[in-house]
Amino acid sequence: MDVKQEYLRISLTDKCNYRCKYCLPNGNINSIENNKFLKIEEYFELAKIFNALIGLKKIRLTGGEPLLRKGLNKLVQMLSTLDPKPEISITTNGHYLSEKINDLIISGIDNINISIDSLDSSKFKKTTGNGNLQKVLESLKKAQKLGFSNVKINTVVTNTNFNEIPKFIDFAKKHEVSLRFIELMSFSSTSDYHKNEFISAKDIEKKLTELLPKENNTRESKLSPAVYRKINKSKKEIGLIAAASDPGCHKCTRLRISCDGKLFVCLYQNKGIDLKHELRNKNIGNLQEMIERAIKNKRTYNPLKTKEETWMSLSQIGG
Ligand code: SAM
Repeated sequence: MDVKQEYLRISLTDKCNYRCKYCLPNGNINSIENNKFLKIEEYFELAKIFNALIGLKKIRLTGGEPLLRKGLNKLVQMLSTLDPKPEISITTNGHYLSEKINDLIISGIDNINISIDSLDSSKFKKTTGNGNLQKVLESLKKAQKLGFSNVKINTVVTNTNFNEIPKFIDFAKKHEVSLRFIELMSFSSTSDYHKNEFISAKDIEKKLTELLPKENNTRESKLSPAVYRKINKSKKEIGLIAAASDPGCHKCTRLRISCDGKLFVCLYQNKGIDLKHELRNKNIGNLQEMIERAIKNKRTYNPLKTKEETWMSLSQIGG
């Protein structure tokens, strides 16, 4: 891989309090036992090693639901001391964010992404299993009240919410937030949902072109497979991530660490490289070699490009 690897996504847990139909519809069935999780200090040790080896531009904390993890603020504080310091971001379903955002900001979080798949309470509940839209919207309000403006919304587009695209764009304009529409990806455990609900990025793009004229105002993201349009004159943008049909493997800068300390160079990789053993034995030289080798041999495992088996769900590897 010629592309510089500079974006580390760290999963803090594979557990989630939501049951999104495309991710964890039946809950934490095959989940990893908590006693196998990396400790907060161990995540930091690994981040330090990655940063020294490759110079990270960005670290994203994800899961599962990262706000469920004890020690989250401590980790954010520790990561903020990295030198040079990468951007520290988090992706959350937003359910507990209004209670936790103040401490997260004080700890040094730079960016927060909140997932919202419907602006209609009953549809939201249906898609997320047991989600509470009001609670999530309160979190966004709280962020704004605290003057924290680096918030983005993630919206996975399906047959259920396709007709809400105009409403989402109005919402983004009204609340002055950037929003990314994400194409639904298929995983082994949710393939039936995918069959019934998939809307292609092409169709989403067509809709966006109708609603937001494309001329001169799109840009491609360097660190994620997203294309953006500005909303009027504001700096906020609407993005489209063709996660399934154009996952951007050729420009992928991402590395992932699962909550039990495995390194994955691709979202669709089934078997990660165990870093925890060497980390616990303090074999830093071996760890460095393992990471360098993994990066050198990085390739895509995307089932559309290879014939490999897909992952059970994004929550397992850290979405
Ligand atoms: N619990 C957090 C959340 O809800 O944002 C973080 C983990 S979640 C796996 C991260 C992101 O992955 C969310 O924005 C979610 O919508 C997205 N995601 C999960 N499964 C997906 C799928 N099958 N296709 C597209 N996006 C998916």
